[in-house]
Amino acid sequence: MRWLVAVLAAVIAVQVGVGLAVVQGLAGSPGGVSGAVAEAGAPAPPYAATRPDTLDYSGGLGADPAAAAVRQTAVRTLLDRRAHALLGGDRTSFLGTVDPEAPAAFRTRQAHLVDNLARVPLALWTYQLDPTVEQPVTAAGFARYHAPVWAPRVTVCYALRGFDSTCTERPQSLTFVRRAHRWYLGADDDFAASGGRTWRGLWDFGPVSVYHGRYSLLLAHPDNAGRLAALARLVDQAVPAVTAAWGTDWTRRVVVVIPASQREMAEVIGDAGSLTDIAAVATADYADPLTGVVRGQRVVVNPANLARLGYTGQVVVIRHEVTHLASRAVTGPDLPTWLVEGLADYVGYLGTGVPVSVASQELRTEVQRGDYPTALPADGDFGFGSARLPQSYEEAWLACRLIAKLAGRTGLVRLYRQVGTARVGQVGNARVGQRDTGRVGRGQALDQAMRRVLSMSYQQFVQRWQATVVTELS
Ligand SMILES: [Zn+2]
Repeated sequence: MRWLVAVLAAVIAVQVGVGLAVVQGLAGSPGGVSGAVAEAGAPAPPYAATRPDTLDYSGGLGADPAAAAVRQTAVRTLLDRRAHALLGGDRTSFLGTVDPEAPAAFRTRQAHLVDNLARVPLALWTYQLDPTVEQPVTAAGFARYHAPVWAPRVTVCYALRGFDSTCTERPQSLTFVRRAHRWYLGADDDFAASGGRTWRGLWDFGPVSVYHGRYSLLLAHPDNAGRLAALARLVDQAVPAVTAAWGTDWTRRVVVVIPASQREMAEVIGDAGSLTDIAAVATADYADPLTGVVRGQRVVVNPANLARLGYTGQVVVIRHEVTHLASRAVTGPDLPTWLVEGLADYVGYLGTGVPVSVASQELRTEVQRGDYPTALPADGDFGFGSARLPQSYEEAWLACRLIAKLAGRTGLVRLYRQVGTARVGQVGNARVGQRDTGRVGRGQALDQAMRRVLSMSYQQFVQRWQATVVTELS
C-alpha cells in the first residue's frame, strides 16, 4: 500500500527462482478500560432517547469549535487508554474502549489482540491523532451505528525493544462512535473498500511467539515456532557476512517476521501484489540518507517459499534481505533497482560456490536460444508478478558481479553509496522520496559515479555487461 512505497524501494524482494535453482542444482548441500471516555461538559445528545434513523453524523457539533475540541480531547484520551492497556496487557481496560454495541466478532478480535501481543517486547505503543484529516462518514454507510461517528486520521507508532531506535508508524483507519456522552472505538475496517485500510501486524492474526538470536529478533505464530532457532542461526550468520561486505555503518540488528501464509504476508507488508515468486522482502517505512535514520526495518518471510529452498538457497535469501537493511540508509532515489537488487544478490551469493549457470538458469535459457539482453532491467521489471522477474534479478546480479570484478567489492559498495547519496546536500535538504528535484538527474548520478569508480560511462558499462552475459551463459 501507499504507506510502504512512499519511500523508494521500500519493498525489495528476492525472487524464489534463484533459490529454487539453487535447490535443483545443489540439493543436499550442507545443512542442504473500563476505558470509556466521557466527554466532560458535552451536551446530552438529542438522539439518545429515540434513536431516529436520520442522524446528524457530526454528533450535533456543526461548526462549533469548542464542541469539536471536546470530541478531539475525548478520542485522544481514548487512544491513550488503549495504548496504555495494550502495553500493560490489561485486556479488560482495553476492551472497555471498544463500542459495547460492536459486533461480537470485532470485540473478540480486540480481546485477542491484547493476548497475542503479550510476548512481543514492546518498548513503545502509541497512537497519533490528526483531527485535520477526516474520512467522510455518510448516512448510507454509517446508519447502522445509530449514533454520531467520527473518523479522523490515526497512526499507530510502535517500537520493538532493543531493535527500533525510533517508533515505526503504520496507518489505522478507525471509526469512533459516541454513546451516552462517551466515545468508543466502533470499527477498524469501515473504509477498507475505499482504500482506508488499517495496517495489520502479525498479532492481528494470532498469538505471537518470540525468539531472540544474537543479532536477531524473530516473530512468528506458535505453529512456526519450531523453525525459529534455525532461521535465527541463518540471520546471525548473515549479519557478520553482510557487514564484512558492506561496512559497519548500520544497526546490525535484524527483526524477522514470519506470517502464517502468503495472504497474511500481503497484509503485514501492505502490498496486494503477487507474492507467488517471492521468498522474503525487506521493508522500511522511512529512510533519510541525510541523517542515516531508518524506521521500521523488517525482513518478512514468505513461509512456504522459504521452506522450499535448500540450505544454500536460504543462506542467499537471508543475506540478500539483510543486505537491503544494511544499505537502506543510503538507498536514495537515484539508485536504479537493478543496482539495489544486484548488490543484494551479490552479497547473497558471495562465497557460496553457486555456479553462474545455476544461479542464472532462466537467463541462460534465453541466451542459449539467442535472446540476448539489450538493456539493464528497468525498475518496473522487478515488480511483484513481473513476467521476467527471475531474469531481471539474474541480469542485476551479473551486472554487480561485473562491477566487483572491475573495481573490487569495495568499488561496488562505493558506487552504490555514491549513487544512493547523490542528492544529499543538494537543493537544501533534499531527501529520499523527492525525485528529480536535484541538479543531478537520476541517470546522470549513475553515469558520474561509473566514470569515477569504473573509468567508463554508463553506456560503455552496459555494452561490457551485455558481452559478459553472452560469454558467461552461452
Ligand atoms: Zn531484494
